[in-house]
Formats: sequence, structure tokens, C-alpha cells
Amino acid sequence: MQLALTEYFSVILRFCRMARPLRKAAPSRRQGGVGSFSKERAVAYVVCEPCRDCKYTDCVTVCPCECFYQDGRMLYIDPEPCIDCEACVPECPVEAIHHDTRVPAAWQNYVALNAQRSAALKAEGGPITERQEPLLGPGCTGRLRG
Ligand code: SF4
Ligand code: SF4
Repeated sequence: MQLALTEYFSVILRFCRMARPLRKAAPSRRQGGVGSFSKERAVAYVVCEPCRDCKYTDCVTVCPCECFYQDGRMLYIDPEPCIDCEACVPECPVEAIHHDTRVPAAWQNYVALNAQRSAALKAEGGPITERQEPLLGPGCTGRLRG
């Protein structure tokens, strides 16, 4: 089972890497360009408020498309490579990750924030793909793992 999952993610990661040049060459799918999917609008998963000051980073190890970027406070998902596989959602111990069509009202600003911050952080460096020690700063209001 473990092997099958590893092979599954390996295939998806290879697909993401092969598709990356095409995505870069095409207009943003969020702008409805030539490279846009046939879906009416692109969707992606979004990191919301509970990640702030916690940064457990369990999510990054399962993402097949290297979507996660971080700054000193939290992580963000780049909506462009995100294939909506949902693998990251159950990994987050503070339930910070939501589909962008189901983000709680109080955290709606995180949809744009994820796109903006991931784009800015991409210019500064690569994605985070390996788990690191949690930040667990004073603003971390999420429940701790048992
Ligand atoms: S697992 Fe959750 S809290 Fe941890 S970095 Fe990912 S989104 Fe943030
Ligand atoms: S849903 Fe999560 S794990 Fe899947 S590609 Fe998007 S960010 Fe990565």
C-alpha cells in the first residue's frame, strides 16, 4: 500500500514537472487564458489563518506539485500548480487548508493572499518540500497534536 501511494505521488509529481513549462508559456488559467482548464474557473486549496505562527509543515511532504511557499509567519499555496488533489488537507493538524470555494467567510482574504504571497516568495526562492520544526509562536492558536 505504501509503495502504491509512493508510486502514485511519483507519477503526479512527474506530470506536474512536465506540465510546468506549458503553464509558464500559457496565460494564467486564473485569467481564463489559452492555457486555462475547461473548468469555468480554476480552483485551488488555500492556507488560512490557523497556520499563522504555527507552521507544522506536515502538508508540504505530501504535495505532489511543490505548491507550498513560506515566510516567517505561515505557509501559502501557489494556485497555479495546485491540482486540487486534497492530499494536504488531512495532514494539517490545525485544519488550516480549505478549498478556495469553501473558505470560511472570516478568512476570505486568504484566497488572494495565498496567490500574492506565493508569487512574491517564488521570486525570492524555491518551494518548501520538507518538514521542519514547527514554529509554534505566540500567535499559534491551533490545537496541539496529542
Ligand atoms: S500543516 Fe497546516 S499549519 Fe502546518 S504548515 Fe501546513 S498549513 Fe500550516
Ligand atoms: S491540493 Fe494540496 S497537496 Fe494537492 S496539489 Fe494542491 S497544495 Fe498540493
